[in-house]
Amino acid sequence: MIHLLNIKNHPLTVSQIIATLGILKSIKMFQHMRIQWLILLLILILTPEVKAQKQQNRPKIVIGVVVDQMRWDYLYRYMDRYEEGGFKRMLRDGFSCENMHINYSQTATGPGHACVYTGSVPAVHGIVGNTWYDRSIRKEINCVEDSLAQNVGIPNNGNSRSPRNLLTTTIGDELKLSNNHRSKVISVSLKDRGAILPGGHLSDGSYWYDGGSGNFITSTFYMNELPEWVQRFNDQKLPEKYLKESWTPLYSIDSYHQSTEDNKPYEKTVAGDKPVFPFDFDPSSYGKVRNTPYGNMLVFDMARAAIEGENLGSGDFTDMLAMSFSATDGLGHGVGPNAVEIEDMYLRLDQGFAKFFKYLDERFGENEYLFFITADHGAAHSAGFLKEKNLPSGVYNLGFIKEIVPHIKEKYGIDQVIESAQNAELYLNWDAIHSADKNIDEEELIDEILRFILKQDGIANVWNTRKLEDAPWPDEIKNRYINGYNQARGGDIVIMPQPGWQASEKGTNHGLWYPFDAHIPLVWMGWNIPQGQTHRFVGMTDIAPTIAAMLKIQMPSGSIGTPIQELTK
Ligand code: ZN
Ligand code: ZN
Repeated sequence: MIHLLNIKNHPLTVSQIIATLGILKSIKMFQHMRIQWLILLLILILTPEVKAQKQQNRPKIVIGVVVDQMRWDYLYRYMDRYEEGGFKRMLRDGFSCENMHINYSQTATGPGHACVYTGSVPAVHGIVGNTWYDRSIRKEINCVEDSLAQNVGIPNNGNSRSPRNLLTTTIGDELKLSNNHRSKVISVSLKDRGAILPGGHLSDGSYWYDGGSGNFITSTFYMNELPEWVQRFNDQKLPEKYLKESWTPLYSIDSYHQSTEDNKPYEKTVAGDKPVFPFDFDPSSYGKVRNTPYGNMLVFDMARAAIEGENLGSGDFTDMLAMSFSATDGLGHGVGPNAVEIEDMYLRLDQGFAKFFKYLDERFGENEYLFFITADHGAAHSAGFLKEKNLPSGVYNLGFIKEIVPHIKEKYGIDQVIESAQNAELYLNWDAIHSADKNIDEEELIDEILRFILKQDGIANVWNTRKLEDAPWPDEIKNRYINGYNQARGGDIVIMPQPGWQASEKGTNHGLWYPFDAHIPLVWMGWNIPQGQTHRFVGMTDIAPTIAAMLKIQMPSGSIGTPIQELTK
């Protein structure tokens, strides 16, 4: 019978089948059976195995999810009230990389979405921030802006978008390249960058939300007209329907023991309103879905519409759907991680996943889709909350950047030494510096600025980006800054605030390498995913090469990660 157990991996040859029949004949219980019956028995034993092997050659669809600003601890801190079919199911049935970190700094939405799908870092894929300073045109640019493209779905408004600034391929691009463009890749998000960067250059449609019209839109980079299914989706006017409902907590407000009481002074706002339950919104203020659970519901709705409208997962090749939930970030910035609104939003998001998985099971079959969920970054606790609890924190005054200018003018006679400040980096004005003194010692000038900045409250480190290799920091930190620095797009000086320090006591932010920003969830589920977890370090750059290894396709063109061995055995 050993032969029979092995046929899963080694289909039998005719002579092996005859030999197996011989073995069966020699076993006592089969001795009196006719050969025809034995053949039928063998076919019955073989059939499900052969079929199973065929089905397991590929998943019907890869579904990638990024939850914007989801800290790793959100997987567990609200668990008592999670449903069986949502986050609990992911952890119970799937494989969790519990010690997953963003292996570059600075941690923001653009770089995060780019890293997940390229397996690369800002040094290579070029998305150094949500915005950066373009020295060639002397202007701040958005990571997905593209003056060559035009909006599709709304009139042009000077905000045309595309993935042109992304310098490498994505896993979706490679999926399409692997089979001569026969896979389909679709991406949806509330944020433009949350859809565009995951969709990559070859996306069959990347759609994001326009707060002005309440519609999902796209760019001429992909197409000249919205597909009919997107138009039909927009015609439903779902944002209006959602905003008519007031947002009340799922449970009695006093029972939210995992959060501070509602309306603390360090909560800023929710969608521009006072941060207190219940919330009533003007149904025509479409932009407000960006900061409320309605935004997540819209992304689920749009994902279902995409699966059906594009018939994803029904062809001969694996398709891909990238979903990004960013209402979590909009709300998080306003109220911080300890707010009752965040708890309620994650309970609702969990319910959304439970429903979505049921839908996917019915449509594709439980293990026929490959699912993963991660985040683009986490978030710090509000500085005001940390202060209340006597934890290390503070509020730094960014005004010191302006004070550098007169200081350097006085010392070196240079006008306007700072050209721009972006992503905690300073771009120096080299034209002004060289016109003041052609022979200036550039290193000495930078050192003078570093000394000035280091004197400010709340600054942990500040360094010359040309010399990151020499920074007096532990390798773990240094490597993340090297990974995050792009010579063409980065600044000259990088500033690292102390942990817990922020520009305001209210709300929160992210952007640093510290665990509250960089330790994020990564859970896999479905096709060929074993149940389990690992606590070894996994970098964000490992996600794309893992998918590539599982699908047996080329990893993206700038990938520096390694496949997660537990999943590719
Ligand atoms: Zn983000
Ligand atoms: Zn954010």
